Amino acid sequence: MDRRNDRALRARAEVVIPGGMFGHQSTALLPDDYPQYFVKAKGAHLWDADGGKVLDLMCAYGPNLFGYGDEAIDAAFIAQLRQGDTLTGPAPVMVELAETLVDMVGHADWALFCKNGGDATTMALTVARAQTRRKTVIRARGAYHGSTPWCTPRTAGVLESDRAHQILCDYNDVASLEAAVAEAGDDLAAIFAAPFRHDAFIDQAEPEAAYAARARELCDRTGALLVLDEVRAGFRLSRDCSWSHLGVEPDLSTWGKGLANGHALSALLGSDSARKGAEAIYATGSFWYQAAPMAASLEVLRRIRETDYLERLETLGERLASGLSERADAAGFGFRITGPGQMPLFLFDEDPDLRKGFFWSSAMLAKGVYVHPWHNMFLCDAMTEADIDQALDAAEASFAELRAAAPGLAPVAKMAFLSQTR
Ligand code: PMP
Repeated sequence: MDRRNDRALRARAEVVIPGGMFGHQSTALLPDDYPQYFVKAKGAHLWDADGGKVLDLMCAYGPNLFGYGDEAIDAAFIAQLRQGDTLTGPAPVMVELAETLVDMVGHADWALFCKNGGDATTMALTVARAQTRRKTVIRARGAYHGSTPWCTPRTAGVLESDRAHQILCDYNDVASLEAAVAEAGDDLAAIFAAPFRHDAFIDQAEPEAAYAARARELCDRTGALLVLDEVRAGFRLSRDCSWSHLGVEPDLSTWGKGLANGHALSALLGSDSARKGAEAIYATGSFWYQAAPMAASLEVLRRIRETDYLERLETLGERLASGLSERADAAGFGFRITGPGQMPLFLFDEDPDLRKGFFWSSAMLAKGVYVHPWHNMFLCDAMTEADIDQALDAAEASFAELRAAAPGLAPVAKMAFLSQTR
């Protein structure tokens, strides 16, 4: 695969961007043949800087919910952009968007808008502390809530005081949650939870009903707030909060990524139980009130309410997962597909340094399908059954290539750290 343009861009970036690339979109921990740069996107497809076209099962790490460059969503964005976007005050669309979200999301009585998921989770932390006048928060070990100092997974430059007043528990482990609550004593401000366990590098896990219910009970008993971090899963599992089907409603929920189908918008939604805290804090940003992403979001939310996108995603996810497991079985691989079908994660059995996963993912890429070897993926409404079938055909051929290559696969040096932590 010719990666000449990609390599040239990387070389230029080495000079002017620290490390050549930063953050979650860096290919540093992906197979070497993965492209870093993309020049174009449409629907479910991406074009890399060397003209290669791939079916994109990452969906921009979530924001692409209805397809890249969706005509109606982008038309709403552009119309509002022409009218006014970043202004001296918000446009009326902000009120309409808050009303719409409050109507759609069961627990929500109010909304505050921001840009990235981390803005919303950090604001949730601050609101919870302001509301309860307490300091301690509980979150699950390994769960991602953003890259701000209180929760970034990489702690260079982070002070112990940035991480103070936090207790970690294990997701889905009621006893460890109870122990954390006991440790917090009378200082518990909030329990943070992801809709399901979607940590990188490990199998995903559905939330256990008993864990969700106990988190709610413990908050009620102690006067703490329950925060559901919907940034990644929001509206991909449900048209409401993801724990609604378990009968558990949070006090605060954080949204981002797909909320405006890739336009920059995130939100903190809250119940009246957290309104005073939300009124008390000062949180803002030059671009938080931009009207164009809000207009795009209204169109996204209309599609969420009025179309069968969710059922389509579930059906496509089921087709992908069942087709993959059939093909993996036939090829004789233990291949774990975990999490909801529309947000799956793939890991091979007996693959501590991901050498099988890397080889198979590279083989998929060579056949025009972009998969991720250790992060969950995302389906979008622009995908078709034919796209899924293309992925399945690519998978079958890639399993066959892996079968032939497996005995001689070299260790993946950049993944050696995993063997030490597993
Ligand atoms: N919470 C969760 C669950 C996420 O998945 C992410 C992003 N991957 C964030 C928060 C942070 O969002 P952002 O990168 O937009 O700040």
